[in-house]
Amino acid sequence: MNATNDYDVIVVGGGPGGSTVAGLTAMDGHRVLLLDKDTFPRYQIGESLLPATIHGICAMLGLREEIERAGFVRKGGGTFKWGTNPEPWTFSFAASERMAGPTSYAFQVERTRFDTMLLDNARRLGAEVRQGHRVLGAVRDGPVGRVTGVRYGDDTGRERLATARFVVDASGHGSRLHHEVGGSREYPPYFRNLALFGYFVDGHRMPAPDAGNILCVAFPDGWFWYIPLSETLTSVGAVVRQDAAARVQGDPEAAYTGLIRDCPLVAEFLAGATRATDPPYDRLRVRKDYSYDRTVLWGPGMVLVGDAACFLDPVFSSGVHLATYSALLAARSINSTLAGLVPEDRCLTEFEARYRREFALFRDFLVAFYELRTDERSYFSHASRLTGDSGTDSAAFVDLVGGVSSTDFSRKLVGEVLAEGAQLQLRGMLGEAAGAEPPMFPGGLVPSPDGRRWLVHDV
Ligand SMILES: Cc1cc2nc3c(=O)[nH]c(=O)nc-3n(C[C@H](O)[C@H](O)[C@H](O)COP(=O)(O)OP(=O)(O)OC[C@H]3O[C@@H](n4cnc5c(N)ncnc54)[C@H](O)[C@@H]3O)c2cc1C
Repeated sequence: MNATNDYDVIVVGGGPGGSTVAGLTAMDGHRVLLLDKDTFPRYQIGESLLPATIHGICAMLGLREEIERAGFVRKGGGTFKWGTNPEPWTFSFAASERMAGPTSYAFQVERTRFDTMLLDNARRLGAEVRQGHRVLGAVRDGPVGRVTGVRYGDDTGRERLATARFVVDASGHGSRLHHEVGGSREYPPYFRNLALFGYFVDGHRMPAPDAGNILCVAFPDGWFWYIPLSETLTSVGAVVRQDAAARVQGDPEAAYTGLIRDCPLVAEFLAGATRATDPPYDRLRVRKDYSYDRTVLWGPGMVLVGDAACFLDPVFSSGVHLATYSALLAARSINSTLAGLVPEDRCLTEFEARYRREFALFRDFLVAFYELRTDERSYFSHASRLTGDSGTDSAAFVDLVGGVSSTDFSRKLVGEVLAEGAQLQLRGMLGEAAGAEPPMFPGGLVPSPDGRRWLVHDV
């Protein structure tokens, strides 16, 4: 095995999580190696984004303007046919006074292009990016010691070794590298779904201003997403409950057609459309999208971000947000430790606490949202009742999207979640002018003025 150079940071995986952590650590002056087993552009699902990714993380990476110019479909919110309300209802990111303003939109993206832009940006920021390099496992000091690097197969198939102060596992849901930090992946009983998805050309569009929204439509066996990716291309996916998954086992094409037939609104939107024929959109794909969490998210010298760490049902498009947010938290931790500002375990404790909090807020909100499908009342009025919001019902819903705990539907909690998302966007837009933030937890750390490190809070 040939040893290669030594690095400060090795990032495994060049998806949104990996490119973000590589970019933010390279910006801090560190020697960063990013390895991905695939060659980009590569296909990935997860096309509907949230505002904090664009205006927060991408702005911090210096990529926001390029994304704005890329021609992605602008997403002002979401339209849902969900619950017993027979009519579709729409929420707009601008409906909440906490989110209103110039950053109250996101984009629907072709991940082949979006992920390549992020990866190229990581390279521009100084990371050494090697594609076609598959990581095989971590290397450590002794059998249970600190992780000190990775073994990988290069693009000629030769096995190699690279060492670093930190290894970041951003290798997504399918890799097994996450086992290296110990603990286990846990599959809670909720959100045990299976997704079957494909692409159409010339599907119907909702009228302005909702034409760019994600449309989510519940039907007896689950729900459909309908995401406009361009004027003509639409991503259409069925998320099928575990008890109906047998429908998808045999002939996926027949199952897909049957599921669309069972969902009248989606069938109507696709009445004049044809299946896409150009790769990578020319075939159906199936993904078990069971939600999972991990008992351990980091160990000495190694940290997990994005789907490598945890995954949530896609109904609120939280995947890329959680991947890039956890990458930001990990980058702060690595940068501060390497700069000798804060000890590693304190940084990574802060990383874990913030990451788990954000994940739990989305999870608890989703649990409530799924339960509401059987409720007699429409979701907006539920949201209004739950939050006690004095504004419109739709504003209450947008507030609720920010996160609601199953035990505490209080405005305080809703406000806290939105405060974090809004803070991310503010920092992305204003940089150091965003000013100091209070700690999220008593005795916790605070971000540095440039947002890339942790600092000890002076009381
Ligand atoms: C059905 C479904 C619908 C979804 N819809 C949405 C949505 O609308 N919006 C949204 O935000 N999210 C959505 N998601 C979630 C989204 O796909 C993920 O959360 C997101 O891609 C995670 O990013 P990541 O960087 O953690 O991992 P990934 O994007 O998976 O990137 C991981 C990278 O690691 C590489 N890799 C893997 N193993 C190795 C190895 N051993 N060595 C080197 N490289 C390796 C892979 O090639 C890949 O490039 C959806 C998910 C599913 C299943």
